[in-house]
Amino acid sequence: LSGKNRYHVFDPEHDRQARAQHEALAAIKYALDQGQFRLYYQPKVNMRSGKVIGSEALIRWLHPEDGLRPPAEFLPYVEDTDLSIELGEWVIHEALKQLARWQEEGLGIQVSVNITAHHLMQPDFAQRLKELLDEFPQVPPRLLELEITESAALEDIGVISDLIDHCHTLGVTFALDDFGAGYSSLTYLRRLPVDILKIDQSFVRDMLLDPNDMAIVAGVISLSLEFGRRVIAEGVETAEHGMKLLAMNCELAQGYGIARPMPAEAFLPWVKTFNPDARWAEAYTDMLI
Ligand code: C2E
Ligand code: MG
Ligand code: MG
Ligand code: MG
Repeated sequence: LSGKNRYHVFDPEHDRQARAQHEALAAIKYALDQGQFRLYYQPKVNMRSGKVIGSEALIRWLHPEDGLRPPAEFLPYVEDTDLSIELGEWVIHEALKQLARWQEEGLGIQVSVNITAHHLMQPDFAQRLKELLDEFPQVPPRLLELEITESAALEDIGVISDLIDHCHTLGVTFALDDFGAGYSSLTYLRRLPVDILKIDQSFVRDMLLDPNDMAIVAGVISLSLEFGRRVIAEGVETAEHGMKLLAMNCELAQGYGIARPMPAEAFLPWVKTFNPDARWAEAYTDMLI
């Protein structure tokens, strides 16, 4: 007998889970074919200059009966399956399509997309990425950023590092998402050629209350400077968070305090009316040097 299926003890709970997983995947595949997925875009801003520097594309399932479903409700089923590759390619394609539209409208900002480890580890990932970029010659590849999580990056640091280097030659950039939430050692970070670190939102959220979280945020900011990486704070919910981050020399931010993720059509109007001085009012003016 080979290693697979060595244990044949019937386990009803396992059987139920396998069935649920199977049904969920079938439903997601159907939804993808039916065009039920949407990308929402959440602005990333420079709090010091008040400029909108980019946006993160976040997937939503516009379910005909249940309405808008967040990724936490369906992505877990997809992770580690080949459907994550198909879905991931759809996301990149859709983001490039949107970048092309924004180019036409004179909005030259970056779009970041989230990539699973399983997708990234495909041997032809860089080649497929190149093909997708080639479909949109009007989009400068540097406007596409790929976000990978710390745990994804650690699956095989050598392979991932080479892959990032390869994709860099295509012009795209990389962000290390949810930084601090995983288990990476500093050695790993040094070996990983990512362009920007995203401080995990759990630390940002609690940093004003919890000195330990504050220490982690401060640590990630100085680490990024030491290693010559940029840094952005996620989960910036209040002006107080923004102010404190600015004081610690973290200028880039993303969070509900700036804007929630929004449909693509809402983004350009939002950029046009975005006025950091009004939005963050008193908190801001002191900080603008
Ligand atoms: P993430 O990449 O860390 O994205 C940030 C998440 O935090 C988003 O949730 C966003 O809506 C939320 N968020 C942003 N600012 C704030 C804030 O100030 N406060 C709070 N409480 N939350 C904030 P969302 O859209 O539900 O996505 C959750 C996760 O699902 C993402 O975390 C990412 O890991 C994954 N995801 C989303 N879209 C995609 C995708 O297209 N592909 C893949 N592979 N994963 C995706
Ligand atoms: Mg992300
Ligand atoms: Mg994150
Ligand atoms: Mg996350």
